Amino acid sequence: MNTTTHAYKILLATHPALRKKSDPVDSVDHTIKTLMMDMTKIMVDHEGVGLAAPQIGVHKRVLTMDIRHVHTEKPNMFCMANPEIIWRSETQSVAKEYCFSVPEIGVQVTRPEEVKIRYIDEHNTEREIHATGILARCAQHEMDHLDGIVTLDYLSPLRRKLALKKLQRMEKYQEGDAEPTGDDVTL
Ligand SMILES: [Zn+2]
Repeated sequence: MNTTTHAYKILLATHPALRKKSDPVDSVDHTIKTLMMDMTKIMVDHEGVGLAAPQIGVHKRVLTMDIRHVHTEKPNMFCMANPEIIWRSETQSVAKEYCFSVPEIGVQVTRPEEVKIRYIDEHNTEREIHATGILARCAQHEMDHLDGIVTLDYLSPLRRKLALKKLQRMEKYQEGDAEPTGDDVTL
C-alpha cells in the first residue's frame, strides 16, 4: 500500500473512478466548499492548471482552475460546481493537452475556441463566464472528466492502446508493491 500523507491521491486514467459520470451537487455547502479548497491546494501543490473531483475519486461535478501564470488579471482562480456549457463558438482550436491522470502523454485535442459557462462558485452564487484561450480549453478538459471522458479518448485506437499500456505500467509502480525491475522493462 502507498503510505501517502495526503488524504487524496490523484488517480490515473486507468482507474475506474475516472470513467464514472459525476453527480451534480445540490448546493455549495460546507462539505463542497471544503472539497473545493482541498482541490485547489492539490492543484496548486502540483502546479497544475486544472483539477476535476473524479481525479481524486470524488464523483461530484466540481472542478478547480488556476490560470494565474497566463492571466494576471482577476479572476484567474476558479472553483466551479455543476458547470455547464451554454454556448460554444463555431471556431475550433487544436492544442496538446496534458493531464494529471495521463502523465507524460500529451494528446492533441480539438475543441471550440470559446465557450460560455454557467456554474455555481465557492460562495454558492450562480455565475456565467465567457471563457477564451487556456481557460476555455481547461474548462472543457475538466468538464470532460465530470462525464468520465479522458484525453486518451481523443486518440486513435492504436495510440490509445499503447498509451493505456504505458499508464498500466505507471500504475503498477505507483502501487509500491512492484518495484521496477529489468523484467518489467521487457514486458
Ligand atoms: Zn485531466
